[in-house]
Amino acid sequence: MTVIGIDLGTTNSACGVWTDEGVKLIPNRLGDFLTPSVVGYDDSGKISVGRIAKERLISHSDKTVAVFKRLMGTDHKIEIGSGSYTATELSSLVLRSLKEDAETYLGEPVSRAVISVPAYFNDNQRLATKLAGELAGLKVERLINEPTAAAIAYGLHEKNEGTFLILDMGGGTFDVSILEFFDGVMEVHASAGDNYLGGEDFVDAMLNNILSSENIRKETLSRLQLQTMYMKLESAKRQMDARAENELSFELGDKIVNWKVTEEWFTKVAMPLMLRAKRPIETAIRDARLSPSQINDIVLVGGATRMKLFRSAVAKLFGRFPSCNLDPDLVVTMGAAIQAGLIEKHKGLDEVVLTDVCPYTLGTEVNGPEGAGGGFFLPIIERNTVVPVSIVRSVQTAHDNQTEVAINVYQGEHRRVEKNVFLGSLTAAVPKGPAGQEVIDIRYSYDMNGLLEVDVKVVSTGKKLNKVIEHAAGAMDDATRAASLKKLSALKFHPRDQEENRMLLSRGERIYETSLGEERDYIAHVLAEFDAILERQNQLEIKKARQQLEEVLKKFDNEEWF
Ligand code: ADP
Ligand code: MG
Repeated sequence: MTVIGIDLGTTNSACGVWTDEGVKLIPNRLGDFLTPSVVGYDDSGKISVGRIAKERLISHSDKTVAVFKRLMGTDHKIEIGSGSYTATELSSLVLRSLKEDAETYLGEPVSRAVISVPAYFNDNQRLATKLAGELAGLKVERLINEPTAAAIAYGLHEKNEGTFLILDMGGGTFDVSILEFFDGVMEVHASAGDNYLGGEDFVDAMLNNILSSENIRKETLSRLQLQTMYMKLESAKRQMDARAENELSFELGDKIVNWKVTEEWFTKVAMPLMLRAKRPIETAIRDARLSPSQINDIVLVGGATRMKLFRSAVAKLFGRFPSCNLDPDLVVTMGAAIQAGLIEKHKGLDEVVLTDVCPYTLGTEVNGPEGAGGGFFLPIIERNTVVPVSIVRSVQTAHDNQTEVAINVYQGEHRRVEKNVFLGSLTAAVPKGPAGQEVIDIRYSYDMNGLLEVDVKVVSTGKKLNKVIEHAAGAMDDATRAASLKKLSALKFHPRDQEENRMLLSRGERIYETSLGEERDYIAHVLAEFDAILERQNQLEIKKARQQLEEVLKKFDNEEWF
């Protein structure tokens, strides 16, 4: 059965499959490849995911949520409408929507997936992602690091070896990774980034610059005025390359402000952000102990790397052009789809052995050197070990007449355990005796999905203990999982065909809200007409009316936002 590849992004998500003709990207119910990672309730209490929800993000901010990927792996509850959800649950709604679209596109049920995650995601965050898949009815066959997926999409694994720099700027995050491909293994050598720097900050910077030049305080503007301004600037940002000059007009408070968006102005406004972007690039190169000339390829990923400003800054920094011939906001999806094809053992794909590495060190708590006491970290599986892996290390009793030994499991790089992430604990009974007499074997086995299995054996008694660690903050036990599933299954979703109609109506309502006078009356009239046709529930009539309404709205909404 088909395995789909999914990029579960902070701003946008997408999915694809491997076919005999290569990667096929899967369009969603509205015909787009990108589905905004936004979830919302509409006025009738139904759940929407994607573009419809995004349309309502500002006008119905209490019923709509975005950027929840930042909270993945935490217990934080996000209020939306009358309910509250974890980031895992919200992500499962996005995944579920992608799964349904894939099923429609492929004409068969889909229940297996490869999902990409940022390279710096820790075990909790990885586990939460797997769980989100499970809640959406998808068995997550494999999690793949986003930069690894991008590298695969570019076919970098086909070269025998090399070092690659992946620059990924999405809507709100900037991730820099250095990968090395060697002997069939793709290893993340260094990752750095800025979790609060992305394409949206460039729009904010433009907006703030205009407001301060005009001496207008943001607080004095209505939500709608701000939203409209934001949308116009977002679209101007995207058209920057095509148009040397873009005349915009904003209604701000009771003032009409005309503004000329030029490349020169944008460059000036974006400068502080570009300087911030340079830092993690330098850090990653330094951490990997490389000189820029040792990097074989530079790959651009993420929608925001489409900005000419970004591309030329990178070219200047490295004295050469980055690879950007694949669609930057879909490269990760393509890589995930290739990985999905590999899992299916698709004949079109040569057997590339592509292995991942464990991103953090996993270890246990031990006593320090003579007299230093407990709280020290003994690494068992070291960072960047190729997974799956299984390693055993022995420890001894620390005190005379000790009757039990606690095996505390940690993840991290610090010498002291309190600075690392606690993952779980086991307690083994040992026979009394002098310190150091009893030997305990601790075996850690780790797979690509971030599941850690701990086996403990007391050598003298042969007593064995085993624990699979997936219980960490953000991960759920069976009861919570069942409750989550129940809560999610009670949500009412829009039927697919209705969603296209709702999308048009939301868009029409937004245009209605932002227009005035005659224009406004006219839009009210066409929307009411469309409402009446929907009421009659004749699919053919609805389809025709939808096309007409689309034409009408296009005239008023020529600033393509998406
Ligand atoms: P994420 O990885 O966060 O889910 P994406 O890779 O989809 O996000 O990138 C989204 C960002 O890309 C948005 O901020 C959007 O404005 C920006 N973007 C998309 N297309 C363009 C373009 N043509 N020019 C500039 N920015 C763009
Ligand atoms: Mg992304």
